[in-house]
Amino acid sequence: MTFRTRYTGLIETYRDRLPVSDSTRIISLGEGNTPLIKLNNISELQDEQINFYVKYEGLNPTGSFKDRGMTMAVTKAVEDGAKAIICASTGNTSAAAAAYAARAGITAFVLIPDGKIAQGKLAQAMMEGAVVLQVKGNFDDGMRLVKEIANEAPVTVVNSINPYRLQGQKTAAFEIVEELGYAPDFHYLPVGNAGNITAYWIGYSEYACIKGEQATAACTHCNNVCPYINEQIITARPKMVGYQASGSAPFMRGEMIDKPETVATAIRIGYPQSWDYAWIVREESGGWFDECDDSEILATQKLLAEKEGIFCEPASAISVAGALRDINLGKIPKNSCVVCTLTGHGLKDPDTAIKQSTAPVIRVDAKLSQVKSAILENMIE
Ligand SMILES: *Cc1c(COP(=O)(O)O)cnc(C)c1O
Repeated sequence: MTFRTRYTGLIETYRDRLPVSDSTRIISLGEGNTPLIKLNNISELQDEQINFYVKYEGLNPTGSFKDRGMTMAVTKAVEDGAKAIICASTGNTSAAAAAYAARAGITAFVLIPDGKIAQGKLAQAMMEGAVVLQVKGNFDDGMRLVKEIANEAPVTVVNSINPYRLQGQKTAAFEIVEELGYAPDFHYLPVGNAGNITAYWIGYSEYACIKGEQATAACTHCNNVCPYINEQIITARPKMVGYQASGSAPFMRGEMIDKPETVATAIRIGYPQSWDYAWIVREESGGWFDECDDSEILATQKLLAEKEGIFCEPASAISVAGALRDINLGKIPKNSCVVCTLTGHGLKDPDTAIKQSTAPVIRVDAKLSQVKSAILENMIE
C-alpha cells in the first residue's frame, strides 16, 4: 500500500497562497482539512433537489474555525518577535488564542464578557493557560479596550482586525472548491464581526482570479493585487449570504447596535469589526443579509443533531436555518449547490444543548428485564 503523508495544517498545505517564507517557524495544531458533509435526511432538501453541504468547522483542533485564522496570526506574531497576544472574545477566539499561544510558548491575554460565555470555551482558555480578564461589559466593550491597549502595551492583537486572521480563514473556501471541483452557487455563514464571510470571499475570489489582478476589494492585504499563483481555478463565485440573530443584527438594521442579545453567544456582537468589508462582499457576490430569531436557531441546531448526527453550536446552526428558510421562500433555484459553514462544535455549549433537549433519560434498575422493556417501548418503527 501507499502510505499517506501526515497532515500538518493549512499553512503547509497552502504555503504558496499565504504570507509566509521558507524560514518562517509555523505554529500549527493540524487545523483545517475539515469534512464537507452532504446532508441527506432533511426533507426540504430532497423535495427541492438541492445539493446541500455543511463545512463542519467544529472539527478543528479547538473546535471552531477560529483556528484557521489563529495559526496564521500567531505564526506571524512570533515571526515579528511578539511575546504576548491579546484578543476580545465571545469565547472561541480566546480558546484558539490560548491554544496557539501555548504551542508557541508565548502569553495569551483574553478579554471575555461578563457571564455570557459558553462553559466549554472558558474551560479551554483556562486549561490552555491564558490570562483571562472578565470584562464587566459585552464583546464590543472588550474589543474597544483591546484596540486601545495595543498602543499602550507590547501585545499583538489577534482579533480578526489582524489581517493574517482572514488570510488563514480564506483556506476553507479553497478546500470546498477542491472537494466539489467548483464553487457552490450559494454560501451561507453566521455573521458576528463579519470577518469569516469576508475571508471566504477572499478565498473564492483568489481562486477565481489570476496573479496581478484585483481579486476583491474586500482584500486589502496585497494592495488589491493578488500576488499568488498564475492560475484561474474557478470561473464563478458563490453568492454570499450572511445570517444574524434577530436581537443582534446590525447588518439588518443598517447601523451598529448597543445592546445585542441572542442565545447564540458567538454572534452576540453589535459593532462588527469588518462592517465595510461585509458590505463589499454582499455587493460583489450578489448575496444578501437576513436574520433568524433564537427559537429558529435552536430548532435548527436540534434538527441537525437529530436528523444528521451533526452537533454544532447555536451560532453555527443559523447558517442552515437561513438556508432552509430561503429554500422554503423559493429564493434558491432547484438543483443549486449550497454550502453552509458550521462554525463551531456543539460541545462548546453543553448548557444550552441540555436545556433544550427533550429526550427523556430513562432510569432503570441494573436488571435485564428493565433494560429490555425500555428498549421494546422505545423502538422507532
Ligand atoms: C466567531 C464565530 C462566529 C462569527 O464569525 P465572524 O467572523 O465574527 O463573523 C460564528 N460562529 C462561531 C461559532 C464563532 O466562533
